Amino acid sequence: SAKKSNDAQICFFDTDMENAVKERLKIAQALAHAVDKKEFKLAFQPQVNRHGQLIGFEALLRWSHPEFGAISPEQFIPIAETTNAILPIGDWVLEQSCLQLVQWASQADTKRLNLSVNVSSEQFRRGDFVSRVQQILLNSGANPKNLRLELTESLMAEDIEFVVSQMHNLRELGVSISLDDFGTGYASLAYLSQLPLDELKIDRAFVKDLNKQGKGELLTETLISLGRSMNLTVIAEGVETHEQFERLQELGCEFFQGYLFGKPRTDIESYLNQKS
Ligand code: C2E
Ligand code: MG
Ligand code: MG
Ligand code: MG
Repeated sequence: SAKKSNDAQICFFDTDMENAVKERLKIAQALAHAVDKKEFKLAFQPQVNRHGQLIGFEALLRWSHPEFGAISPEQFIPIAETTNAILPIGDWVLEQSCLQLVQWASQADTKRLNLSVNVSSEQFRRGDFVSRVQQILLNSGANPKNLRLELTESLMAEDIEFVVSQMHNLRELGVSISLDDFGTGYASLAYLSQLPLDELKIDRAFVKDLNKQGKGELLTETLISLGRSMNLTVIAEGVETHEQFERLQELGCEFFQGYLFGKPRTDIESYLNQKS
């Protein structure tokens, strides 16, 4: 909305804001139909052990809209979380992930692969989340032992007792739980130590800092030791260089994910065929 013509700055700002709001609204509307219109795909990024051997993948959502083109999950997930769209999207991600696990399970050389799936706090907070996961596992026939759910520290906003019981119920199904982007949130140690976790996933910001001397490295080392002292497996994300890979191993990290081992890709079968 144009105001005084002598205040061009404010006019610009208003227009930018207006456009940003309009764009968000358009994205939110498109997201409401994106599952039905089959606009989503899953990309899979390899996870490896200390020897660089493939242990599994992380499923990462990809959205391509006929008009807007490819939109990053960093942009559309937060929008989906403000509407109910994240719920059917989250179900779809879990269903597709379980189907992928079933397919891997049918072949000798892929049957031990694990799959990590991102779960939004908005999904997790619903009372029926555990029974949904159970239903999806049953319908697909996937082995829960190969499914790992990635949660984030934003769970802290929820009642701790609810979070803990929900996590216990999930683990009773046989799935494991990872805390994603670890170190970037504000979860207190008292809170963290109460959570029934299996894995800590060190955020890539701390892996990046390994290139610098000093403070960054100390912090990364502390996060890894913390995970190990809590008897959790520790995986680092965003590993891009051999130097980072080696340093993380020296600091006690067991599992790794990042461009050094492979980018997320939707044509995962050809990736697996190449390897064998
Ligand atoms: P995330 O779960 O922490 O996923 C890791 C992100 O880091 C991915 O971005 C991945 O492509 C990127 N990445 C992996 N290795 C490297 C590396 O070596 N260097 C750099 N610079 N980046 C690397 P992506 O796929 O854009 O996803 C962004 C975020 O969107 C995810 O962060 C996750 O929070 C969210 N997301 C993605 N898929 C889903 C989903 O199915 N459900 C939910 N709720 N969130 C999702
Ligand atoms: Mg993740
Ligand atoms: Mg992460
Ligand atoms: Mg992240």
